[in-house]
Amino acid sequence: MSSALYPIMEMFYTIQGEGYYTGCPAFFIRFAGCDVGCVWCDVKESWDANKHNSFTEIEILNEIKKTNAKHVVITGGEPAMYDLTELCESLASNGFILHIETSGAYDIKGNIDWICVSPKKFKAPLKETLLKADELKVVVFHPSDIPWAETFIREINPNCKLYLQPEWSKAAIITPLLVNYVKQNPQWNLSLQTHKYIDIP
Ligand code: SF4
Repeated sequence: MSSALYPIMEMFYTIQGEGYYTGCPAFFIRFAGCDVGCVWCDVKESWDANKHNSFTEIEILNEIKKTNAKHVVITGGEPAMYDLTELCESLASNGFILHIETSGAYDIKGNIDWICVSPKKFKAPLKETLLKADELKVVVFHPSDIPWAETFIREINPNCKLYLQPEWSKAAIITPLLVNYVKQNPQWNLSLQTHKYIDIP
């Protein structure tokens, strides 16, 4: 058992609201620390890791085991800034299915079952991380983000699931555009932040 410390903003058991696993009960580990700097980020309080507590893998495991979770989503912040190898080994050996949500700006260190890459204009994703993506989820803040999303198609693996998701504060304007776009371009799927519509974490 490792004594490594992981900076974490919050941990909670909820329902995955977005993307391929929408509706799946999952335990979320929100890492603290992010240097990507999205202007529309809805968790800016996660950016400074020094403002949050750190936990050992056994403390994290104990929190997860208080719930009935089978899936664990490692998110942030930008969780791929950290070496997750030992944490992933520990969680996997306890039978959990591991997901990560990352901007792709870092190499992922650790074995993860489901990799969701959500590239950001503010810090480009790495080619090797894009290639590992099981799911590409592009947040659309402005209509010009749609052609930008298309530029990633040639950089992902052929089995990667494709999602366009309206940025929450622009959802009223962007959602109808995306409904039309995915109907015209059915390789894409629409992802909505359903957890926000039903007001859960
Ligand atoms: Fe916020 Fe995520 Fe962007 Fe970091 S990558 S600034 S946590 S939206």
